[in-house]
Amino acid sequence: MKYSIKSALLCLFVAASSGSAIAKNTISTDKFRQLEEILPTPNTYRTASGAPGHQYWQQQVDYKINIKLDDNKQTLTGSQKVSYTNNSPDTLSYLWFQLDQNQMKSDSDSRQMATAPRKKMTYSGLRGIIEATEFDGGHKVTAVTASNGKPLHYVINGTMMRVDLPKRLKSGDDVELNFEWNYQIHEQKVLGGRSGYEYFKEDENYLYEISGWFPRAAAYYDVMGWQNKQFLGSGEFTLEFGDYDVKITVPADHIVAATGELQNESKVLTKTQRNRLDKAKTAKKPVLIVTVEEALANEKSRSTKTKTWHYKAENVRDFAFASSRKFIWDAQGYKQSNSTVMAMSYYPNEGNPLWEKYSTEAIIHTMEQYNKYTFEYPYPVSISVNGPVGGMEYPMITFNGPRPTLNKKTGEKTYSRSTKYGLVGVIIHEVGHNYFPMIVNSDERQWTWMDEGLNTFLQFVAQQAWEEGYPSRRGHAADITRYMKSTNQVPIMTNSESILQFGSNAYGKPATALNILRETIMGRELFDFAFKEYAQRWKFKRPTPSDFFRTMEDASAVDLDWFWRGWFYTTDHVDIALGNIHLYRPNSQNPDTEAAWKRALHNEKPTFISDLREKGQWVRTNDKPELLDFYNEHDKFTATNKARNSYNSSNKKLEQWERDLLLDKRNFYIVDFENKGGLVMPIIVELTYADKTTEKIQIPAEIWRKNSKNVSKLFISDQEVTAIAIDPNWETADVDVNNNYWPARPIKSRFELYKRKKNRKDMMRDYNVKLKSADDKEDDKEKEDK
Ligand SMILES: [Zn+2]
Repeated sequence: MKYSIKSALLCLFVAASSGSAIAKNTISTDKFRQLEEILPTPNTYRTASGAPGHQYWQQQVDYKINIKLDDNKQTLTGSQKVSYTNNSPDTLSYLWFQLDQNQMKSDSDSRQMATAPRKKMTYSGLRGIIEATEFDGGHKVTAVTASNGKPLHYVINGTMMRVDLPKRLKSGDDVELNFEWNYQIHEQKVLGGRSGYEYFKEDENYLYEISGWFPRAAAYYDVMGWQNKQFLGSGEFTLEFGDYDVKITVPADHIVAATGELQNESKVLTKTQRNRLDKAKTAKKPVLIVTVEEALANEKSRSTKTKTWHYKAENVRDFAFASSRKFIWDAQGYKQSNSTVMAMSYYPNEGNPLWEKYSTEAIIHTMEQYNKYTFEYPYPVSISVNGPVGGMEYPMITFNGPRPTLNKKTGEKTYSRSTKYGLVGVIIHEVGHNYFPMIVNSDERQWTWMDEGLNTFLQFVAQQAWEEGYPSRRGHAADITRYMKSTNQVPIMTNSESILQFGSNAYGKPATALNILRETIMGRELFDFAFKEYAQRWKFKRPTPSDFFRTMEDASAVDLDWFWRGWFYTTDHVDIALGNIHLYRPNSQNPDTEAAWKRALHNEKPTFISDLREKGQWVRTNDKPELLDFYNEHDKFTATNKARNSYNSSNKKLEQWERDLLLDKRNFYIVDFENKGGLVMPIIVELTYADKTTEKIQIPAEIWRKNSKNVSKLFISDQEVTAIAIDPNWETADVDVNNNYWPARPIKSRFELYKRKKNRKDMMRDYNVKLKSADDKEDDKEKEDK
């Protein structure tokens, strides 16, 4: 029979074997050393529990902006009024603003710091490098004035602008500033980045995805002071929450999608469009506000008039928008407990049939899933736009790239598996960013993992709820092992601009770590409560890593310092190996029983090779049996009467329970484990018994507390154990599972056989091949491809 975990584990911790003495200075080897010495000292702004303190504060910045998009020159011209409220306890004599467009300047820091390309690169890669040196990008600030119209002194340093205030801004006071600016929008497919335009040469139209487009007040907060680190391309942004009132003037035949609620529907939408929008609010599936036919007709129009789309957005940390003649637009209301959110998708016909089928559905799915683990989506709209940007998030609006492939000859559109799941996945991811970091406003310029890691974790959970066996790219423990054992890596706790292997470091590893925390270490109930608590505590506020680490412990009573230390502060990996397996039983002390056991053990030993060969050979005692005596009749294990008497008298002195222990017939297995990777983790052991039943036993990571290299564990069972596996479900990201099994398993693989190519190059032959035109060559190539 098999034992339940409780009965089997009369768990004995057996100290490490003598070979691995602990060094005298144990500081560096203590994987459980508490994090207090690394985390910032708690204060009245941020408590030791990980919650905002009673004097937590943050700035408020409200914007009123007017902009004009010139579709002929691809420029954006704007003027804005900024109301800055100083809620900090400090007096400010200047304000810092982000001019992220300055990253596009040919002499920007991020252009200058780019290292040389490798020998092999794509055409578009080299084109981008060359055009970046010629592009006239960057914010052209034409005026900065005070509310009375007086010019203000300002200094631009790279992507940052310091505006010197005419009068020091005291705690609790506010100030109004006015800006005028313009800039040249770049072609995203050529120069990259998170915004820009896409040009469609077939119909000569532009599609704009616009972000980082206006001077935005940099964050000022208790931990950082001014977050005025230069924008170098990787560390995105953190801004202040505020209310936005934005008027966007575009060609009259453009459709605009933007952060916030449209204020003047009657001015910019037709009656039909408004009716459709109304219908969409309660529809069971997406309703087309602009149909395919209407969008294709729009593509051909070239209005010389303009329309101004007026939006308002409350309590957002940024504002982005998209605009084009090419947009098909669909919408569907998502009813939550307190509100109905309009889920809306905007895409050119090039995005179909994928977009009409999946986009809006994926938006709704994301809110439904994320709401469960965080808080109810607080905004009135949630938008997914298809354009040149592969995947990027802003409050209420996301830019998502995947499209099907068009066969130009047949007009047929098909898509690959990775495009389909890539589209659903990227929409879940980007819409999910509304929660982290658009609402739980972590500092992306400092810590990429705080939004990407947490969001990728929930993305995985949401994807798994989309369809059974959804092929998530990140989240399964086994998928991170290659990265974990790679050498070219830095800890997760690394500033955004210094991260190596960006995707694996800031998305994959933290997402997988959280998944392991949820499934293996804390369990879903404790984890989900603590994670939700973190989201609730910090929504519309700005958390730091310690607030996350502390809240997860505070709400669960699980000491996770070892986990944060190992997974977030080091590059160790998990590799726990099975060592020796010992089978014990109590020594019965009965000389006859023990003699028989010793004899049997002796007989189990293999016969030495020369003994084997000499068996049956002539020996002297064959001829002279008189040489044999007492010792030939009794082997060295034989019990004596003296020993029996001594056993009898000592056995009599024992109590019954002591006597019972001597006769315990159960199997006592002591199994040795070695931590080869460095990361301490629970040891999950699966025992297979003689009757083929199995038992899974989870030993907490704390077993490694006193020796993080070698530990042994006792397992007691009635039955013989026939096989042992560590981490049988591959849930700990163990990078080498080949040392996890007893008996060992073969590593299965394939020989890939191939034929040597004959006559690969023959100039004499190739020189005289018949010359064809370029079109002929295309045909040849197609034949080859088939
Ligand atoms: Zn992301």
